[in-house]
Amino acid sequence: MGFFDKIKAGLTRTKENISNIGHSFDQLFAGELDDDFYDELEESLILADTGMDTTLELVEELRGRVREEHIKTVEEARECMCRVITDAMTVGEPTLNLSTKPAVVLFIGVNGVGKTTTIGKIGHQLKNERKKVLLCAADTFRAAAAEQLTIWAERSGVEIIKQHEGADPAAVVFDAASAAKARRADVVLIDTAGRLHNKQNLMNELNKISRVIDRELPDCARETLLVLDATTGQNGLIQAKQFKEAAGITGIVLTKLDGTAKGGIAIAIAKELGVPVKYAGVGEGIDDLKPFDAAEFAQALI
Ligand code: GDP
Repeated sequence: MGFFDKIKAGLTRTKENISNIGHSFDQLFAGELDDDFYDELEESLILADTGMDTTLELVEELRGRVREEHIKTVEEARECMCRVITDAMTVGEPTLNLSTKPAVVLFIGVNGVGKTTTIGKIGHQLKNERKKVLLCAADTFRAAAAEQLTIWAERSGVEIIKQHEGADPAAVVFDAASAAKARRADVVLIDTAGRLHNKQNLMNELNKISRVIDRELPDCARETLLVLDATTGQNGLIQAKQFKEAAGITGIVLTKLDGTAKGGIAIAIAKELGVPVKYAGVGEGIDDLKPFDAAEFAQALI
């Protein structure tokens, strides 16, 4: 299944949610292009957890374009709404920058959001692209974190660098950087312990990791991906804002889009944070992670 079908299947719950409580998008786009239409569109977007601010801005933008483009039918308005959503979500480079050898991708996010699973899936995809991948288990706070990552490394057939529980995360990153150079790895995927209860701690830790990368792998292409659980809806957005303040995020991975009734959160996150969603998690399987495509997402939602 391609991204569109997966996302479409994944957004079934979002759509059911909307049609159970309010108006389905399908009903909506079968009526007249009048004030009721805009009210109902707003209601549907809010039910999809797009958030009040983002919803109002999107609908306002649609009204403006409908005027400018002399749009008369709801079918044209639907197509226009897809463009409005796509534009709102197009806020940066949508793909990973892996232009150097090695390139480094740092993963942050609270426990349970699907961070380990995402690293495993991306490792597997990159391996399939014939890249040499190294996983780095820098979440040393829980023994389980390195164990889980090891299982994913085995499943994906990629190498892993780890130390004992309680080790200094920056030391594990140092090991991974050395190994990446020695083994001529293409990509290093680093798992971190993203505890949010103490932002200062998190910042200190990420800064320390960052300095090791600066020193050991100067000029390498670097990404910091925040992994967020779509099922947490607006809470995910609050989490994202806090992480953004603590770390320079270059992209979002939105997991569990298959199990949520709140798919609209993807729009709010990209628009309000100004950070692109780069991947969508649409299941627990190794292939259930898709590069995010805003236009297809908008089509699937609306
Ligand atoms: P971590 O604590 O952030 O490393 O989270 P894990 O990677 O251990 O994932 C937590 C749970 O979420 C596991 O049961 C995963 O199988 C599940 N999970 C991760 N990504 C997805 C996804 O895209 N869809 C679904 N349905 N489950 C997911």
